[in-house]
Amino acid sequence: MVRMRVIFLGPPGSGKGTQAKRLMSLLGIPQISTGDLLRNAAREGSRLGLEAKGYMDTGALVPDGLVIALLEERITQPDCGQGFILDGFPRTRVQAEALAKALHLARMDIDAVINFEIDTGMLVERLVGRRVCPRGHGEWHVRFNPPSKPGYCDTCGEGLIQREDDQEERIRKRFSAYRADTEPLIEFYSAQKCLYTVNALNEMDAVTEQIRSILA
Ligand code: AMP
Repeated sequence: MVRMRVIFLGPPGSGKGTQAKRLMSLLGIPQISTGDLLRNAAREGSRLGLEAKGYMDTGALVPDGLVIALLEERITQPDCGQGFILDGFPRTRVQAEALAKALHLARMDIDAVINFEIDTGMLVERLVGRRVCPRGHGEWHVRFNPPSKPGYCDTCGEGLIQREDDQEERIRKRFSAYRADTEPLIEFYSAQKCLYTVNALNEMDAVTEQIRSILA
């Protein structure tokens, strides 16, 4: 098995999570979504989770220290031994530098950063219509990818919900956080010669194929 440490970079709704799940089974390495880790912590009601929820619900980024601690803990777990796909981390320069430092100390490196390029104007509809299973079985879209029984999870039958931050005004706030804090990382990783760009507007299968050939 090939050891592979990959970062997926791109605006909310650009398909990072969907592609990370597909690549996870193809490559045999875990997807690490800091959004999922934070939502789980919030659901469990831990102090960290509740603090994070206050930021997430408004569409703001969670403070660096909190997310970095969570991520550092996650990447040292045994299932990350062969690598991982980071989905939604780093989102700021401080996070990118903390990651580089943590990997350096562990004598590890990032193999590739995949930049999901897409005009954010295309993404509002994708996010507004997104519905998720409250038990974590995945996500659907009211128009582009409806479940077999409208409004209910195909896996467990639970009623689907809309994420708090998938409301239009919060989506706009998430895009501005992306532009201000995350987009500059394109330059940061480009300077390190490990950045590859995919056209995230393409069909899902075509994007998966493109990422696969980059990683090969
Ligand atoms: P996501 O599921 O990746 O769209 O993330 C949902 C929300 O979780 C974001 O809008 C942020 O509030 C928070 N979040 C996730 N990852 C990070 C991160 N790396 N840094 C700061 N906040 C994050």
